[in-house]
Amino acid sequence: MAEREEFGVRVVDVIGAFDILDWANAVEGRDSAMLRAEVLSENQLQIEHAMQRAVEGQYGWCEDCERQIPGERLKVWPEATRCVECQRRYELSAGS
Ligand SMILES: [Zn+2]
Repeated sequence: MAEREEFGVRVVDVIGAFDILDWANAVEGRDSAMLRAEVLSENQLQIEHAMQRAVEGQYGWCEDCERQIPGERLKVWPEATRCVECQRRYELSAGS
């Protein structure tokens, strides 16, 4: 019984030491920063890949179906190395 009470007090003390909302925000912030870092490094790889394609004279051509990637797509996403259909197929196969 005494141990139980002591445990209860300790838990309250620990919770009291934090502003729970700040703590939750910090955890969320760290998670989204990690997520952003992950996305950025993926983007960097994709950009390097697109630059490599440019060096090889393949830039603007889909690496899967070898058709020309529409200029509109490259304007929105210059690092694209696949047309919309092939990219969708690629993402579906990579996700499974
Ligand atoms: Zn394609």
